[in-house]
Amino acid sequence: MKWQWKLGRFAGIDVYVHATFLLLIGWVGYSHWLEHHNWGEVLNGVLFILALFLCVVLHEYGHALTARKYGIKTRDITLYPIGGVARLERIPEKPIEELWVAVMGPAVNVIIAAVLFAYLFATNGLVPLTDLTVASGSFIERLMTVNISLVLFNLLPAFPMDGGRVLRAILAMRMDHVRATQVAANIGQGLAFVLGFIGLFNNPFLLFIAFFVWIGASQEASMVQMRNSIGGIPVTRAMLTDFKTLSPQDKLAQVVALILAGSQHDFPVVDAHGRVAGILDRDTFIKALTQHGQSASVMDFIRPNVPEVDSSDMIDTAVMRLQESNSKTLPVVHGGQLVGLITAENITEYLMIRSALQASGKVPNPIG
Ligand SMILES: [Zn+2]
Repeated sequence: MKWQWKLGRFAGIDVYVHATFLLLIGWVGYSHWLEHHNWGEVLNGVLFILALFLCVVLHEYGHALTARKYGIKTRDITLYPIGGVARLERIPEKPIEELWVAVMGPAVNVIIAAVLFAYLFATNGLVPLTDLTVASGSFIERLMTVNISLVLFNLLPAFPMDGGRVLRAILAMRMDHVRATQVAANIGQGLAFVLGFIGLFNNPFLLFIAFFVWIGASQEASMVQMRNSIGGIPVTRAMLTDFKTLSPQDKLAQVVALILAGSQHDFPVVDAHGRVAGILDRDTFIKALTQHGQSASVMDFIRPNVPEVDSSDMIDTAVMRLQESNSKTLPVVHGGQLVGLITAENITEYLMIRSALQASGKVPNPIG
């Protein structure tokens, strides 16, 4: 179980809510009850949180729809108690594109706040901000204030906040991507340290955010370094070329023989024209064998439409596809014909061998 539920699909993107979000709703309802002992207030508090998270979802769509303009798909949007996450398939390579994708999230909250302000202004509904608290004051005005806080918070120049990406994008216009990420991550961690220090004496919530920023910054830096070290290496250097395939007519009995005879876990099923019909992985195979016995057909249990990696692709593309597809093995094809298999394990092996050979110094950059 993934502990999340689908709320719906809007503009072609699935929106999920994480189970822990319900804890937040429960906590808000409960604290309102403790304070007011009134169901109306409880409802009011819960509605406010829901309205706030609607603004968060719109913020994520700001990122997702801008990314789409640059040809980048969004896998899904998930709501957590600490905010929303739009999982983009990749981060735009061009700094100016990353800048726009990062900025358009907070821009949505600026627009929402401006619309709410215009409404309050037109209806003479504005009260001085000093009379306003998180728990009291007009619903609309609180929502406006909270949108402004969202903008300020998100523009903190630290990963994983949008401001961190804005900073990296601006730096990347002057230096290379890896260096820009490193500098942005350092600034983010410096900021996290200051936040944590202030939080230590004033606000435990700041400590939590500082921790979150610290982790986010180092993750971003190591991910970019990893991508950089494997970028530019063709996938054919790291693929498995010694492997067995199945044909669509095969029964599970053939798989039993192959699995026992070798060390291969996942088997591509290849048709008479050399095209990949799908992949049978070991877990599915064991389950199928338990339930249906050796005479069942492999075609009933394959995972069809697995994404293929082209033989001209680079390793970083293969890593991305492996992550996206949740499949342990992907076929590598050349002109539609299967020429190899790529797995995370094999990529790791390749990188280990490569760095060992480079460290030995005898062969300069021997296989990469
Ligand atoms: Zn954002």
